[in-house]
Amino acid sequence: MRMRPTLSWTPGDDLPPGTTDLAPVTEALRAGGVLVLSGAGISTESGIPDYRGEGGSLSRHTPMTYQDFTGSPEARRRYWARSHLGWRTFGRARPNAGHRSVAAFGRHGLLTGVITQNVDGLHQAAGSEGAVELHGSLDRVVCLSCGAFSPRGELARRLEEVNAGFAPVAAGINPDGDADLTDEQVGDFQVVPCAVCGGVLKPDVVFFGENVPPRRVEHCRELVRAASSLLVLGSSLTVMSGLRFVRQAADAGKPVLIVNRDATRGDRLALTRVALPLGPALTAVADRLGLAVPAAATA
Ligand SMILES: [Zn+2]
Repeated sequence: MRMRPTLSWTPGDDLPPGTTDLAPVTEALRAGGVLVLSGAGISTESGIPDYRGEGGSLSRHTPMTYQDFTGSPEARRRYWARSHLGWRTFGRARPNAGHRSVAAFGRHGLLTGVITQNVDGLHQAAGSEGAVELHGSLDRVVCLSCGAFSPRGELARRLEEVNAGFAPVAAGINPDGDADLTDEQVGDFQVVPCAVCGGVLKPDVVFFGENVPPRRVEHCRELVRAASSLLVLGSSLTVMSGLRFVRQAADAGKPVLIVNRDATRGDRLALTRVALPLGPALTAVADRLGLAVPAAATA
């Protein structure tokens, strides 16, 4: 079960401090067979804030749970108002140097796979086409009644039609695409039903309180089994859905390397934790490996 992260966990003071030495990460990639596990920290440089860390959104935002969402039409109305507004930001977000470096590692055959906890689609947009979206993706919508999938852009257009003039200014946005709005700002926002059967629509993301589909978890476990090492990028590993793969790799004696500014729950299991921002760090690693990382698209 994906549990809602809380602020109650704080890294122990006895954890090894982070390093700025990129040599172990560089050498692991040079050896190849690396599995990447990424979290919200890799997308902050694309303008999508993290839940935690400096200015982290958890301090003001309680993520929607599956139980809240399915339990009440009013909760869904508030959710879709916030998420619709958040989608405008997510729709504009572009991959940063971190995503582009990971894609370059993949193109040069250094990776066995990419697993991401993010729902922003930025790894795919950067060219990591086979990336496994552990928690789903905001760019798809699923009907809870008939199971039909549809593109988020299509729903966004329908929501624009019935909510002409809806343009509140959000206090912030969260990595799950949920903007911060007061009840007053949500106002009389209207939701729309499934275009096929009239059922309830939900973004195709794993909400807190919901399980990651077992087949997806098993696929990720296979990727860990096939990998020589695990490279964690931008995740505090606070939730079990990601930490379990770190444990699996460590239990199998595979090196775990972490690049994350703050301490993580996986630090004790890791060979190293590099405390550098992802974009510059991964660009430097790519440079040491002699790989070209394409510049940001201007479109
Ligand atoms: Zn339906």
